[in-house]
Amino acid sequence: MRLIKLGLVLALAVGLAACHKAGGGGNVDGARIAAADTNGEWVSYGKGYSEQRFSPLDKVNAGNVGQLGLAWYAQFDTDRGQEATPLVVDGVLYTTTAWSKVFAFDAATGKPIWSYDPKVDGKKGFDACCDVVNRGVAVWKGRVYVGALDGRLIALDAKDGHVVWSEQTTDPGKPFTITQAPRVVKDKVLIGNSGAEYGVRGYVTAYDAATGKKVWRFYTLPNPTGAPDGEASDKVLKEKAAATWPEGAWKLVGGGGTVWDAMVYDPQLDMIYFGVDNGTPWNQQDRSGGKGDNLFVSSIVAVKADTGEYVWHYQVNPGESWDYSAVQPMILADLTIAGKPTKVLMQAPKNGFFYVLDRTNGKLISAKPFVPVTWASSIDIATGRPVENPSARYKSSVELQMPAPLGAHNWHPMSFSPKTGLVYIPAQSMPFAFQADPNFVYKPGGWNLGVNLLANAGPTTPEQAKQLAAMIKGWLIAWDPVTQKPVWTVPRPYFWNAGVLSTGGNLVFQGAAEGQLYAYDAAKGTQLWSYSTGNGVIAAPMTYEIAGEQYVALMVGSGGGGQVSAPSLLPTRPRLPGRLLVFKLGGKATAPPFKINQLPPLDLTGVTTTGDKAHGYVVFNNNCQVCHGANATGSWLPDLKRSPMITTPDNFNSVVIQGVRAHNGMVSFSKFLTPKDVEDVRAFLISQAKGEPLPAPAAVAKTAVGAK
Ligand code: CA
Repeated sequence: MRLIKLGLVLALAVGLAACHKAGGGGNVDGARIAAADTNGEWVSYGKGYSEQRFSPLDKVNAGNVGQLGLAWYAQFDTDRGQEATPLVVDGVLYTTTAWSKVFAFDAATGKPIWSYDPKVDGKKGFDACCDVVNRGVAVWKGRVYVGALDGRLIALDAKDGHVVWSEQTTDPGKPFTITQAPRVVKDKVLIGNSGAEYGVRGYVTAYDAATGKKVWRFYTLPNPTGAPDGEASDKVLKEKAAATWPEGAWKLVGGGGTVWDAMVYDPQLDMIYFGVDNGTPWNQQDRSGGKGDNLFVSSIVAVKADTGEYVWHYQVNPGESWDYSAVQPMILADLTIAGKPTKVLMQAPKNGFFYVLDRTNGKLISAKPFVPVTWASSIDIATGRPVENPSARYKSSVELQMPAPLGAHNWHPMSFSPKTGLVYIPAQSMPFAFQADPNFVYKPGGWNLGVNLLANAGPTTPEQAKQLAAMIKGWLIAWDPVTQKPVWTVPRPYFWNAGVLSTGGNLVFQGAAEGQLYAYDAAKGTQLWSYSTGNGVIAAPMTYEIAGEQYVALMVGSGGGGQVSAPSLLPTRPRLPGRLLVFKLGGKATAPPFKINQLPPLDLTGVTTTGDKAHGYVVFNNNCQVCHGANATGSWLPDLKRSPMITTPDNFNSVVIQGVRAHNGMVSFSKFLTPKDVEDVRAFLISQAKGEPLPAPAAVAKTAVGAK
């Protein structure tokens, strides 16, 4: 089989495009996306506009799934996280990889047709909280659209991948990124952005699909200057949102509220629904003096498709303070509730409650917890507001809370089967220690949370480690959205989960962190088939049919927010190149085992440091742990315990201060750390590389937050 290297793909592109038999014209319009809600096509991110991710295809079914084998595969030139869902249009499969690269293949044979690399500057990786991932393309009337990590929205010709137009959708001077798949509604390409951990002001924009000209923009929160933006959101921000933002750091920081994942469309109601991220800083005390609902942070917002004009909103977390965003995938369905056919919008956001809304008006129908939840006891149906546990509004003491900021459910796509009436949720649970950072100051370009991350540096004793491990879980949950109860549950050995597909063949497909792709009986949850990918899986499978044969496709590659920021919650493995695996009944292809290159343990003979490792422990966990793992336990982004860079101060400074690895996303930290901080971090890393215990609490207390 093929080992596809980017260069090879580029070299072959012209010749293959000429002799290729698959359609390749990207001939998708609104009627075709709407029809994909019920037919076997998969032509938009979530399949059709309602994003149910249910395919009626049933040639692969519970009776024969045991015969599923590899039809073809491709290997990519990046070993960062793979989150994309491929689309298939007229025999051509379009997908993206990390670093926003786009690939087109013959969907039946795997022959590469073209590829496109937007050549994102590696430095931009620093602005990506949760890996340099991309979740896929949109296809519309001969074009393929991708949102690049650096904020460009790019239209490519579907036949050969050449750039038709490119628009910078964000201020390049600010820490915005794009990881989301665009959606196209009525000749308008919708795109949002990410960056709420760093400090930006979120918005979603509709661009003319043919020309790239901006049609409308909706800001999710007021302009800190108080002035109108001249955009679709002006009226509602003035009338409903402005008063919910009293004084606070949001005016400096931007307030957050990015739209980085879910965007769905109801063609009958002609409404677009999008989800809004947390506020910046996380801590509402810092953000707005602990006052106000902070609209439209952590909300689901409905707007008119033509104009972006506000229709309704539902805020899942008023005055959000925990990174409990409402950007998680949304599914539109028609359910029978209390005997009445009801147009619903369903979401399982980070905060752990499963919400069913009436999508005609945004009214809450029901909300129940689908995982252990400690921040609220319930959601009041009459007001739509949560009944919060008073300790959830953390101050100086440490409050252990569930779910964690990584969420009870993150971006991993869920699926709704109209056949079983169940929503299949990739759910997860872990505690997080919330404690206010008494020294919060706005750090332009850095993380701005107002939360003491050191409180989450992890267990310091084996006993604590055992207790914590017992609280960290993942599940695939088959959830009845009408009764708001689980029907079956499959436990997952690891926390960070993977996307889901359900099919008319009575099957649910889901990958897993440990590297398997599983097929389950959709009604009972019995495992029917599995395949070992040799790498971690976080993306969602999709399925399509060509010439009477059904295929199942999956992007493979560990990564994303959970892998980057909490690698100790996942299987230990080096970074491996991403792959696209495509299966069919009787498939006989094989993918070779991955070559594993891992740095050996360091020889630290003669390595010395003048640094204070206890202070280095504090600095590391407040500045470095979100990429390199709490207490440097990480093994995924470079395991610093094995990095030759820690063996001399000069080596370490060249990376941390001079930024020689900026092309990989490791920019200079000279803005954030003093030379003493850097040497102290090096001392801490050397101590961890030697396997020494963590610094004793008394030594840490002297250098911790508040004791500077
Ligand atoms: Ca967030």
